[in-house]
Amino acid sequence: MVRFRRFVASSPIFSGYEVFLDIDIHNTLDKIINQFYDNLYKLLELYKFEVLVEELKNTRFHIHDITMDDITMDHIESNNSEKKIYVCDKCSS
Ligand SMILES: [Zn+2]
Repeated sequence: MVRFRRFVASSPIFSGYEVFLDIDIHNTLDKIINQFYDNLYKLLELYKFEVLVEELKNTRFHIHDITMDDITMDHIESNNSEKKIYVCDKCSS
């Protein structure tokens, strides 16, 4: 079974960007963050957003106040794929 979760940027520049990731493949917070970053990077590069690509290189995304367990446990309820999980770059934590 493929389990997708919805990850959304909480960011001064990239707010609103969202991607659905399979949490069985991306099964740690680091893998999720890396994939979130890579998807955005490829998207910006594809459409030649050169300034935004440079901005993204200086961006350090992180997920706080939520653990991988929180993300996986959520699946017990069926329609949680619509729930937003925020990936932040607003603070330095
Ligand atoms: Zn933060």
